[in-house]
Amino acid sequence: MELVVFAEVLPNVRSMTMNVGLLTEKKSSSFKLGIYPLRISLEYKNKSTTQSLQTVLNLSQTIETDDKPVIISSQDSLDIRLKLRSYVRKKPANQPSVKDTHPPFSANELTKLKNIQCVYCKTPLLKTNAFSKIMDMPSEHWEELVDCWMCHQEDYQQARMSDIIARENIGLVGNTYFLIHPKDVKSDTVGIEERLAQVDWSKGLSKKWRPLNCTRCLCPIGEGLYQKTKKAEENDASELSLLAIRLSKQAVLVELESDTNESITQRYPFSAFIAADLFEAAKAHATYRFIIEGQNSNQTYALIWLFGWDTKVITNSLRDETQCCKFSPSVAQSCIAIKSDLKPYNVIKLLYIDCTSQSNDKSSSILGQWQKDKTVEHLVYHNDICLQILLMLKVSTSCLPFSKRIMNGFSVGFIDIHGC
Ligand SMILES: [Zn+2]
Repeated sequence: MELVVFAEVLPNVRSMTMNVGLLTEKKSSSFKLGIYPLRISLEYKNKSTTQSLQTVLNLSQTIETDDKPVIISSQDSLDIRLKLRSYVRKKPANQPSVKDTHPPFSANELTKLKNIQCVYCKTPLLKTNAFSKIMDMPSEHWEELVDCWMCHQEDYQQARMSDIIARENIGLVGNTYFLIHPKDVKSDTVGIEERLAQVDWSKGLSKKWRPLNCTRCLCPIGEGLYQKTKKAEENDASELSLLAIRLSKQAVLVELESDTNESITQRYPFSAFIAADLFEAAKAHATYRFIIEGQNSNQTYALIWLFGWDTKVITNSLRDETQCCKFSPSVAQSCIAIKSDLKPYNVIKLLYIDCTSQSNDKSSSILGQWQKDKTVEHLVYHNDICLQILLMLKVSTSCLPFSKRIMNGFSVGFIDIHGC
């Protein structure tokens, strides 16, 4: 048994805070804190039962501290604050920042791509040797610049860079998806999610992105760009042509060929995928506030406010029996907020409001303000993804000590940048 620890390192303000959960009967127990260059040890002893617990935090970088730690004791825990003289003795080569975080699965990482599979049922989706070339696409947010150049009256809201460039035998890699020509996809592996009759073709563009499912397991897998052919009657789905397919990176497994010609499949961690998306949007719009909306319902799921990407978290407080056990293994895996193994992980820290639960006056007034505010960015995901984001954030909050879970009406959470 270990003491439950949640520690946070903030290199920019040179501090480290630690919350240590204690057992009851404090009077008859003693607590020893040891600070070493590359580790911190915590030892708890119960004098009457001679029970002893020890927990060691191994740090990846050196800690040097001038001051005595500040220790505040409460009913069932200890808060320890260390002032760091310099947390980082030598700047590590890959200190993450908003500028240099790369989205998952770039073209470079896919030179040995064999296939792309549905993440849930593992059905291969591509024809054999579908691509002669795999290339990265420009930022998704180029589209907004395209809008500025266009001077037509037509509604370009749904027009995207990818409308123009899906080409046979070329795999294009966007920030959050793969753009593929329908001829490179095995027949009948993907299908449209809802009745196309629901699409109002009389308004807006003559091409529309509609949600696609894996036809075997019916799980959402991406979107298809559909165009209505001229001769088609109203509401006749059979007369639509599919021009391009976007497979969402988090909904697929990437099958690569190893040096020994064996296949290795890789799944990009959900948290890393969401972190990359938030980074990309923050870079493009210079905003740190986001409204998370459902693609199929226009429902608002969450408000997210980013406030730091150089935090490190060390904890063992994530219990096995989290809320995620109720879900399928695939969803449960997506919701792991952090590994609970006392190693330091780089996280984005954020504040959020869950808009799906009963709202109080404060949260609905914040939602109202954000909806009116043009500097707040809207991020639209499939409804299932929105729920997974909320679940992941709630799991992260559950790692925090009670006193630190709420701040100004927002819940406090974090996202592991690299994912586990
Ligand atoms: Zn499937």
